[in-house]
Amino acid sequence: MNQVSTTLLVIGGGPGGYVAAIRAGQLGIKTVLVEAATPGGTCLNIGCIPSKALIHAAEEFDKAKHYADGSALGIMAGAPAIDVGRTVQWKDGIVKRLTSGVGALLKKNDVQVINGFARILDGKTVEVKGGDGELLRVRCEHLLLASGSEPSELPFMPFGGMVVSSTEALSPADVPRRLVVVGAGYIGLELGTAYRKLGAEVTVVEAAERILPAYDAELTKPVGAALKRLGVELRLGSSVLGLNADGDGVRVKDANGQETVLAADRVLVAVGRRPRSAGFGLESLQLDMNGRAVKIDDQCRTSMRNVWAIGDLTGEPMLAHRAMAQGEMVAEIISGKRRHFTPNAIAAVCYTDPEVVVVGLSPLDAEKAGLDVISANFPFAANGRAMTIESTDGFVRVVARRDNHLILGWQAVGRGVSELSTAFGQSIELGATLEDIAGTIHAHPTLGEAVQEAALRALGHALHI
Ligand code: FAD
Ligand code: NAD
Repeated sequence: MNQVSTTLLVIGGGPGGYVAAIRAGQLGIKTVLVEAATPGGTCLNIGCIPSKALIHAAEEFDKAKHYADGSALGIMAGAPAIDVGRTVQWKDGIVKRLTSGVGALLKKNDVQVINGFARILDGKTVEVKGGDGELLRVRCEHLLLASGSEPSELPFMPFGGMVVSSTEALSPADVPRRLVVVGAGYIGLELGTAYRKLGAEVTVVEAAERILPAYDAELTKPVGAALKRLGVELRLGSSVLGLNADGDGVRVKDANGQETVLAADRVLVAVGRRPRSAGFGLESLQLDMNGRAVKIDDQCRTSMRNVWAIGDLTGEPMLAHRAMAQGEMVAEIISGKRRHFTPNAIAAVCYTDPEVVVVGLSPLDAEKAGLDVISANFPFAANGRAMTIESTDGFVRVVARRDNHLILGWQAVGRGVSELSTAFGQSIELGATLEDIAGTIHAHPTLGEAVQEAALRALGHALHI
């Protein structure tokens, strides 16, 4: 059996693992990265990027349909059609460009990439089985676990046939006539909305009483209203029981125990993701765990010396930018730098229509933490830029300490607000106060003016409302 020795061995080439490897390479650390599939992980191959591409294509198609119905803008267009096969090809092209780019960056930084499935033998030894079946043993000083996550399955309705996960939903051969989505979280609503815009009849079944139950009701209200306008049916407070006997529908029980069957040609199950912590020898290390997630400290150290873990494998929030930040930090710690993972806030964006952004504390979070805060909303209905892009739904909300006006959180819902997450995150990390944001000149006309106006409103003197 061939043997390789290295300083750092990374298992998994997703955003966590590939960023750790690139940074380690930059710092001169001898690094091997083992990836069973294509570099880029869930995010680039079957997650963030392909979902945003499909969402964009669906939005453009929907816009074309809207113009065919006549529009206040005076635009007239014929009825559009869509070739979903070509849409998927276009999406695959973007994925290919990005994953090839990651491969090139790893090479540029002298990272040895081994394509194969890693099996952990002990905290310093991993066996890799390549595509050709050949075994390779890798010895390391530091082992970084970045194996990510996988979709949770409903035991009574496993994936297969008409029951699909986000992976299959991102590469459809066609648009189903009737799609049932289980779960009104990130994936269910992002992809449910896209499929509706592509022409499917969509019903979303959610166990909780609200869509996006992780966010507060005020924030998700414009999303619920938009789903209704789009014709997405919501079955809230309902649980799925399984496929019906004929296999052409989903049995659903509502909060009153009433059972119905929803006719379906495809069922997208999006009830969460679970850390990929089994099936490759990780159990043998007997690390301290939080359920299925590997337990880490604020430097991403596990309970075993020189074994590190990052990203989705370590549990919520399962977000690509968190995984990347952790990966970069671990490489720097191994190189001898003093680093800790203590962000003041990690932005979360849901790419529904309208989009939702959450950074830091909501008023409810602050209340639960016993903090005395002021909060204020500024509606896009009072923002000129929002009017010019025909999108006045939603608002920006700021949360700040009452005593010194330190900003603790931002929330926003509206078209294009994902791009405001940068300003929100920076203001919190830099320790900005309401006065700092209110006193910054914001370009006109921009959606960003709602950020300044929310701060002004919290201070009691908004100008445009
Ligand atoms: P992953 O990206 O899951 O990568 C892990 C890698 O490890 C995989 O490539 C896997 O093949 C490899 N691997 C696992 N075990 C082994 C082994 N034994 N040997 C070799 N290789 C192995 N997050 C956002 O921030 N924004 C978004 O818009 C967003 N959209 C998403 C949309 C969808 C549909 C999905 C499913 C997820 C989305 N996410 C989004 C979440 C994001 O994809 C993850 O948080 C992110 O990919 C986690 O990175 P990671 O490096 O921890 O793991
Ligand atoms: P999620 O946790 O966002 O939502 C799952 C939803 O399913 C919840 O609302 C939950 O109440 C509901 N649910 C659970 N069991 C159910 C059942 N039996 N019947 C009906 N409803 C049920 O999970 P997800 O949408 O699968 O996404 C997984 C993870 O992927 C997210 O937590 C997120 O970290 C990541 N992701 C992020 C983005 C983004 O950042 N834009 C996009 C997609 C995915």
